[in-house]
Amino acid sequence: MRQVIAGNWKMNGKFSDITPFAAAVLEADLGADLIICPPFPLLQGFAAALPGAHGAIGGQDCHANGSGAHTGDVSAALLAEAGAKYVILGHSERRADHGETNADVAAKVLAALSAGLIPIVCVGETESERDAGEAEHVVRTQLTHSLPSSFAGLVAYEPVWAIGTGRTPSEADVTAMHARIRAVLVAQFPASGASTPILYGGSFKPGNAASLLSLPEVGGALVGGASLNAADFLAIAASAPRG
Ligand code: PEP
Repeated sequence: MRQVIAGNWKMNGKFSDITPFAAAVLEADLGADLIICPPFPLLQGFAAALPGAHGAIGGQDCHANGSGAHTGDVSAALLAEAGAKYVILGHSERRADHGETNADVAAKVLAALSAGLIPIVCVGETESERDAGEAEHVVRTQLTHSLPSSFAGLVAYEPVWAIGTGRTPSEADVTAMHARIRAVLVAQFPASGASTPILYGGSFKPGNAASLLSLPEVGGALVGGASLNAADFLAIAASAPRG
């Protein structure tokens, strides 16, 4: 199975970035599947600039409702109409900045699925939770409550303390957590849990990508800061083992 390398641009980027970034992606010969998740206004431009075979587009959030009085929010159907195939849900910055609960995330996952989007659901413990020995419990709880019974999509394990900090868990810790996530997914979804891709996210760089992407049960990367630079993003993608 090809690995998935997803770039989360967060609240970064501008219209003039689309053409050079897409040109670099179009030139690359990669053994991994790319997903670019830019801010909402750039979705359509990216979708037009990147034919499907070269990279898919994703949103960074959606509302649980299809329409209505929700100022500043966007529906899953509109993301899909703008050209998105994926949507990141439950990112720790959404959970922290917007108070999103696991139940909120589950409702958004259902909305995304019914609009035909593939959700990438983020889970991960904070540093204090890890220090308290609660990482496994936190991640297990996030999985069981953020994924509805009809879940079909990807999971991203992103320890909050590794996001944007330059710090990464040890290879042993990533391996152990991905194995636990796999066990939870298999128990929760007997038909699909064994094949649900589990991405790792948190301070991916070209220099650490090959080792992180080679770990068992790591099905790809969710990349924040390094995804803004096409050369770095593509170097990470080029490090994915060719399946
Ligand atoms: C992220 O926020 O999803 C992320 C992984 O960020 P970074 O790569 O910058 O740590």
